Amino acid sequence: MNDILACPSCGLDKTEAIVHGGSYILRCAACGEAIVATSFMAICNLDHPFSAFADPGPGKRPGPEMLIAHGPLRQISPTISDAAREGTLILLIPEGAP
Ligand SMILES: [Zn+2]
Repeated sequence: MNDILACPSCGLDKTEAIVHGGSYILRCAACGEAIVATSFMAICNLDHPFSAFADPGPGKRPGPEMLIAHGPLRQISPTISDAAREGTLILLIPEGAP
């Protein structure tokens, strides 16, 4: 995942990966500005493991009780799609991220 994009609003380069409906969005962790949006389908076959959480809001760390799915994105993408389709914002955190 390359998420080394600076926010056009505040210049911070810390982004969060959000799935909303069928869209994949990079959101600034500071001000919540959505930076890049692509289709979730475009990334849902990644083998990299992710943790998917119900979105706690920009810059906030989700609690373990908010975990929706965990594992290779290819395996958990149906669960994520279902939750996203119901209107839940999904925060995707790649395994091994600091
Ligand atoms: Zn920002």
